[in-house]
Amino acid sequence: EAAINRIAAGEVVERPASAVKELVENAVDAGARRIEVVIAHGGRSLIRVTDDGCGIPEAQLPLALARHATSKIDGTDLLNIRSFGFRGEALASLGAVGRLSVTSRVEGAEGARIGMSGGRAEGCAPAALDCGTVVELRDLFYATPARLKFLRTDRAEAQAVADTLRRIAMAEPRVGFTLRDDESGRVILRLDPERGEGQAPLEARLRAILGAEFTDNAIPLEAEREGHVLTGLAALPTYSRGAAVQQFVFVNGRPVRDKLLTGALKAGYSDLMHAGRHPAAALFVTCDPARVDVNVHPAKAEVRFRDPASVRSLIVTGLRQALAGATH
Ligand code: ADP
Ligand code: MG
Repeated sequence: EAAINRIAAGEVVERPASAVKELVENAVDAGARRIEVVIAHGGRSLIRVTDDGCGIPEAQLPLALARHATSKIDGTDLLNIRSFGFRGEALASLGAVGRLSVTSRVEGAEGARIGMSGGRAEGCAPAALDCGTVVELRDLFYATPARLKFLRTDRAEAQAVADTLRRIAMAEPRVGFTLRDDESGRVILRLDPERGEGQAPLEARLRAILGAEFTDNAIPLEAEREGHVLTGLAALPTYSRGAAVQQFVFVNGRPVRDKLLTGALKAGYSDLMHAGRHPAAALFVTCDPARVDVNVHPAKAEVRFRDPASVRSLIVTGLRQALAGATH
């Protein structure tokens, strides 16, 4: 079983950034208001994610590390996935490719810790901590050395971790995020929780991540079509960051990289952009979870809509109307 877990885990965990994505999405799911990520050697030797979310009851700790033992999917409707996560195998996968420990405490109870190394689970032990969860992953890929060869420099891996965090943070402006390097103590990224009504927290978070030049030159989006809702910020065609492509697309609060959506983004700007320039925008598409499959592949962020043509029209028309209003 341990060997099978290690093979399956390679599908989910490609590099430190993919481990961070799974752990931080779990913390967001747990309702955390602050999430701290500490890495060493670009996440290769250490990834520690600390959150102040709801925690995991001691009796459920072994279950949290078991493959497919997710609390969110009952198996009857895999399409009906409201939150993040690939079918309850992230923690099991991380415990298969590294040395994992999960320490957690729910309100009104004592804390507990459980470990898993190379796919082998260890017993539960009492532990002291604040309410919330600390997940520590050491020696990523020690159990699958072939994977290590594909990693880039510590610096490049740390950069990928920071980019992953920024993307998740765009969709969660009310949550505070920090990323710290364990050896130097240096804070690589710090995003304080944003407050306010409507799109104000999103605007403030995008300002913190993309800079005031983006938000000062962007217009809010609001459109709806056949049950799909589009919100977000779109930069005016005159805004340009040179070669840097700033296109961020989210489906039901989850960052995705999807050709249909980025294609629609480009099409929305098609008559307005000068050759060689890239439109910049953060687009949020929201719909009934039953109308989109966000788990086409665990490591890829593709999505499959029930009605792709409608989603494309929503984005193209939503962008064109907003940009026409702003440029005339
Ligand atoms: P999934 O997120 O798809 O359910 P995971 O393997 O990522 O699968 O996590 C398994 C389960 O462990 C989650 O469903 C959740 O109940 C619990 N869990 C994991 N991380 C946390 C966390 N940071 N806070 C609270 N519960 C967590
Ligand atoms: Mg998960």
